[in-house]
Amino acid sequence: MNAHPKAMELWSAVRNTFAPLCLEVDGIRSRYALNLKWNAAGTTIQSVPPPTISLAIGTDRVAAALSHELLHFELALLGYPRLIQNSVGNENEQYMINAVLNVIDHAIMLPRFLELGFSQAEFLADDVCENEVMKLCIIAFSNVAEFATPKAYHTKLRGFLNLRHLGNDAWFASFEGNQWHEIDEQ
Ligand SMILES: [Zn+2]
Repeated sequence: MNAHPKAMELWSAVRNTFAPLCLEVDGIRSRYALNLKWNAAGTTIQSVPPPTISLAIGTDRVAAALSHELLHFELALLGYPRLIQNSVGNENEQYMINAVLNVIDHAIMLPRFLELGFSQAEFLADDVCENEVMKLCIIAFSNVAEFATPKAYHTKLRGFLNLRHLGNDAWFASFEGNQWHEIDEQ
């Protein structure tokens, strides 16, 4: 990471904002978890377990992999909508919405990743194009300018999901003032 000072700054910002941020070693695949959930009373939204980055080590792209996951957190830090996981009743829908979010995140993250000093080849997005919805999603979200702000991201995401009758019960949250707030759909 020392070779990428901007990535170091991002690491500090994410760690300070989402403390306690867990960093764990995973031999297979790097990934992040931000499992937002309403508490039982439905009054507060928290990540359960705490925000975590699982990092595959022993490769020549550890810094790139860590930075990739940090950029997902940067979107949260900047107020982009994140799914409240237990707002979705159907597990399959929950899976699909997370896959869609991943695709949209990656589109916004790639230019930032290059700014941090990495190459596109190191980005290694693991988007699964396993069904029709995901293929449509990649096409629908090919022009980053259409969803570059948190508000535009939410509007376009909701439009995409509505058209496919996905996530009618899904709620999203944004991070402001050091807290998660559900996004008013009005
Ligand atoms: Zn990713």
